[in-house]
Amino acid sequence: MESLIFDRMASYDYENLFFCQEKTLGLRAIIAIHNTTLGPAAGGIRVWPYTSEAEAIEDALRLARSMTYKCAACGASYGGGKCVVIGDPRRDKTEGRLRALARFIHRLNGLFITGVDVGTNLDDMVIMRQETPYVVTLPRSWGGPGDSSLETGYGVVQGMRACLKEVYGSPDLQGRTVAVQGAGAVGRNTVSYLIEEGAQVTIADIDAERAALVAAEFHVQVVAPAEIHRLPVDIYAPCALGAVINDRSIPELRCKIVCGSANNQLAEARHGEMLQQRGILYAPDYIVSAGGLLSGLDSLNPGGFNLERAREKVARLYEAMQQVIAISKEQGIPTNRAADVLAEQRIASVGQAKRLAISGQMRIA
Ligand code: NAD
Repeated sequence: MESLIFDRMASYDYENLFFCQEKTLGLRAIIAIHNTTLGPAAGGIRVWPYTSEAEAIEDALRLARSMTYKCAACGASYGGGKCVVIGDPRRDKTEGRLRALARFIHRLNGLFITGVDVGTNLDDMVIMRQETPYVVTLPRSWGGPGDSSLETGYGVVQGMRACLKEVYGSPDLQGRTVAVQGAGAVGRNTVSYLIEEGAQVTIADIDAERAALVAAEFHVQVVAPAEIHRLPVDIYAPCALGAVINDRSIPELRCKIVCGSANNQLAEARHGEMLQQRGILYAPDYIVSAGGLLSGLDSLNPGGFNLERAREKVARLYEAMQQVIAISKEQGIPTNRAADVLAEQRIASVGQAKRLAISGQMRIA
């Protein structure tokens, strides 16, 4: 029997693929569930004008799997999932479609927990929340964590501290030099925490106005976007685009540590090895950028979001980064690979624990 979708799902052992359509409203969405060993699948909703169904399915599968690794490595008891909606986010996010999608998510009865991703925002989540409680990235006024970039920035700084401890023997940021690429939501908040900790910060943004605003707010230096990764600093923090660590940029780096929020910083996995060979410590992006995810998931606790508790969880990204460094040294592998090993080890051990039958009626949720 010829199989396209099942073979693709079998390739990384995906659990489910749900297709959601509502003809009258024009909704077409796909929810991929990769692995729920650790708990319900968590992942955002991406609205994108995919040019084919195959492209949308592939994106949902790829992103769901990366959520499995992100949740596992950052210590969350959730699995990996993702929802992609075929459409233009500027035109196609009607109230009807968002509510219809929310009802599909509700039918999954908590198997899939979701929030903001590319093409969606907090206003969309408020609309969806009227149909399901399984939307977690809500504004503070709705019992959610609000703007996730605050906690994401806080998590990035915890990752930096763990790297500094490894490289210099102390996690102290006082007097350390940091080059932040991108002064957007996460970049700005990262700068704010860094300044609070006494670091010396330089920023760059292709949006000159944005860079000037952040520079004026925190009294930091601005350089041209093409210069930021070349600065002789302790830490280079990519907080803008992916694929900035590549064959061209690696020989130009003059930092000791790369640690930032941008997704998919390594153009290819082999660039992790190249950084290691150059003696540069790389903080895997999917671990140090998990602060927003951890705070979104915190709102699922009874009583809703609690900033103090969420902060404690985000602060533990320091330990997650230390574990990555330890695996990297023990196994002689680059940190990007060590992060995957950390995630795989946790899924395997929790999976093993869950195989034990529990007798009697009482179970811990
Ligand atoms: P944003 O759009 O608010 O900010 C990105 C900034 O980078 C913008 O100001 C943009 O002008 C600038 N920029 C783009 N290209 C640049 C370049 N070549 N050089 C310098 N600056 C450039 O986005 P954000 O929410 O701050 O997210 C930043 C990165 O972090 C993204 O890769 C995002 O996927 C990732 N991330 C964000 C979160 C979050 O909570 N927002 C969570 C995890 C990961």
